[in-house]
Amino acid sequence: MTHAISSKVITVLGATGSIGVSTLDVVARHPDRFHIFALTANRNTEKLFDQCQQFRPKYAVMVDESAAEKLQGLLRNAGSETEVLSGTGALESVSADAAVDYVMAAIVGAAGLLPTLAAAKAGKRVLLANKEALVMSGRLFMDAVHEQGAELLPIDSEHNAIFQCMPSSTKNGQVVNNLAGVERILLTASGGPFRTWELSQLQNVTPEQAVAHPNWAMGRKISVDSATLMNKGLEVIEACWLFSVSPEAIEVVVHPQSTIHSMVSYNDGSVLAQMGNPDMRTPIAYGLGWPERLVSGVEPLDIFATARLDFERPDLARFPCLQLAYEAHAAGGYATIALNAANEIAVQAFLDQSIGFMDIPQLIEAVMQSAESGTPNQLEDIIIQDEDSRQAASFWLKKKKTH
Ligand code: NAD
Ligand code: MG
Repeated sequence: MTHAISSKVITVLGATGSIGVSTLDVVARHPDRFHIFALTANRNTEKLFDQCQQFRPKYAVMVDESAAEKLQGLLRNAGSETEVLSGTGALESVSADAAVDYVMAAIVGAAGLLPTLAAAKAGKRVLLANKEALVMSGRLFMDAVHEQGAELLPIDSEHNAIFQCMPSSTKNGQVVNNLAGVERILLTASGGPFRTWELSQLQNVTPEQAVAHPNWAMGRKISVDSATLMNKGLEVIEACWLFSVSPEAIEVVVHPQSTIHSMVSYNDGSVLAQMGNPDMRTPIAYGLGWPERLVSGVEPLDIFATARLDFERPDLARFPCLQLAYEAHAAGGYATIALNAANEIAVQAFLDQSIGFMDIPQLIEAVMQSAESGTPNQLEDIIIQDEDSRQAASFWLKKKKTH
């Protein structure tokens, strides 16, 4: 396949998800600038097949082996030259491949850690949506970025907004922000679908109510995380690593309209905000184009229709997950791995209707208490803590069932 010399070669991890689909939407608007090397998914064969037909990647990866076989059959019948790989190792290969310039890290949860880390270790431009990977690996991930000269660009809308509100440049192949004069980062949160609900009402919310986000259309896991405010907790930790700041420098601001995507407050009294419609194609296009700006397909913000901008403090009593995230970050790397693993198990159990909404923080708190103290400095220790915490979470669920 031929493509313009200057075009960038991209692997999209988690291509069939909400971020993956938005990424491909932006890519499709710039056929001369971008070329898809690999698309990956867990097991959604039909969607990945359609995407392969449209973008003609060299590789398609399905983690699930039988899904991979099915996809290969479909593609062969359609006369496609895309080669299908399967298994988690293949995710790392298509991230680290020498032909790749940019990796969109948009797998959900801990499953994204190894391929995202592989992209950083291979010195790629890493477009980071998969916040769980950074929450789990923190220092190790940032060290890989620095040592290998990877270009890390945040895709999470808030972190992308913060990035946009600080001067950025390239230094020794790295993307760096100039934090001179920064006093505070104002990390906005929509507050989720239960922002105004009483604690007593929160006991009985259903998965359908929890995934119905007022402003953003997202995958189910992050939608539940937004409802519990765990998403904001993970984002505080994410911001600490991305911008090398302490949690005290970050203020969570509930802003129900989701028009401002975050702000940076400076020592001269200036507060810079990035605004726009809540559509992930804006931060995705920014990451793909940086330092240039690219057309994203997002409707311009109608400032006259934006009648009001409200701001509130988060309520940690009704949303204890945010508090747990602060505690985990203060306790160290092992605790944040436990926080993330327990949250993933808890959210799935809630979606399966085996536990209630307010059981989510209880399970996480219990699992965090069983975490090692301190911070792991090698990948193996991260993986072991993740597995141990998942086991502890499963055990908690079993115990709850029998009581
Ligand atoms: P999603 O559930 O819509 O998509 C997840 C993708 O990951 C799918 O392509 C799926 O096939 C793949 N996947 C799932 N499990 C996998 C596994 N075990 N191994 C390999 N691949 C697997 O999720 P999403 O909403 O697109 O979110 C993706 C990531 O981006 C998450 O980390 C989320 O926190 C982050 N993020 C999403 C949004 C958003 O608007 N959706 C905004 C900010 C950050
Ligand atoms: Mg976000």
